[in-house]
Amino acid sequence: MESVKHCCESMQYHAESTCDQHPDRFDCPDCMVHRSERDGSYGLIILNEAGGGVITISYCPWCGTKLPERQEIDLIEFYEGSND
Ligand SMILES: [Zn+2]
Ligand SMILES: [Zn+2]
Repeated sequence: MESVKHCCESMQYHAESTCDQHPDRFDCPDCMVHRSERDGSYGLIILNEAGGGVITISYCPWCGTKLPERQEIDLIEFYEGSND
């Protein structure tokens, strides 16, 4: 699995933590943050039992770093072409 550089250790923990009981992080009440692999944007997880989804966040709640913008769907291919 590709390792991702997060803005801080807290973000790394919350964006990558998984637990044995919930293979799907959107089922786990302990998983708070989802990172989009497509555009690198971050969001707060809404559990499936509450309807599911992600609330995009613009700044890290722990260190305040500005996070990547969520990209529109028609820009995804463009951004996948540049790898830095
Ligand atoms: Zn951070
Ligand atoms: Zn869990």
